[in-house]
Amino acid sequence: MSNLAKIKSKLKQAELVAVTKNVTVEQLLELYEEGQRDFGENRVQELIRKEGEITVPLNWHFIGPLQRNKVKKLLQVNNLKYIHSIDSLKLIDELIKQKDEFKGEELGLFLEYNTSGEEEKHGFNSYEELLLASKKIQEKLSPKMNLMGLMAIGKIRTEDFIADAKESFATLKDLKEKLEKDLNTSSLKLSMGMSSDFELAIESGSDFVRIGRALFV
Ligand SMILES: *Cc1c(COP(=O)(O)O)cnc(C)c1O
Repeated sequence: MSNLAKIKSKLKQAELVAVTKNVTVEQLLELYEEGQRDFGENRVQELIRKEGEITVPLNWHFIGPLQRNKVKKLLQVNNLKYIHSIDSLKLIDELIKQKDEFKGEELGLFLEYNTSGEEEKHGFNSYEELLLASKKIQEKLSPKMNLMGLMAIGKIRTEDFIADAKESFATLKDLKEKLEKDLNTSSLKLSMGMSSDFELAIESGSDFVRIGRALFV
């Protein structure tokens, strides 16, 4: 039995993406049996393998670093619904180039922001870049591919975990609100919160929490 019910009871407004990168298809299907439909993977190769073994329809969320030479393969994955980790303008150019490979109905894109400024982390580093990336998606991408919102990963090296997490989430929320004003929309979402900090993320207004370890302990 997984911890799904316990975690779900804490979600409030947020949706759960069950991150299955470290577990088997059998474990994934146990969550499916319990009603979970949204699953996250961070490697294209593993996502393709798992999708190939699964016969039930579910919603895949790609959450990991995406190399440009894997974009085509990723877009071809059945049931791909979201990419949370769009982290550069060059990656968007590649998505534009490969957009016809996507055969699904709709693909939601999140721009990843590096809220902690740590060098090893992926993501955009300024509001101007986010705005540019958003406009590029809106103007040049396929009508099937939509800007969903912003994503962040909490700080890796931290001495005050709670304070840093809250600061990171507040930063992302501010950026989202600024972006909504500039794009004249009110529909952007926040993808933030993992096993260790999802309750803080939910308090900070997260729409999608991405949880792996805490589901399977
Ligand atoms: C692995 C991963 C998660 C889930 O992390 P847990 O600590 O297992 O909950 C969330 N987001 C991203 C981008 C990940 O790579």
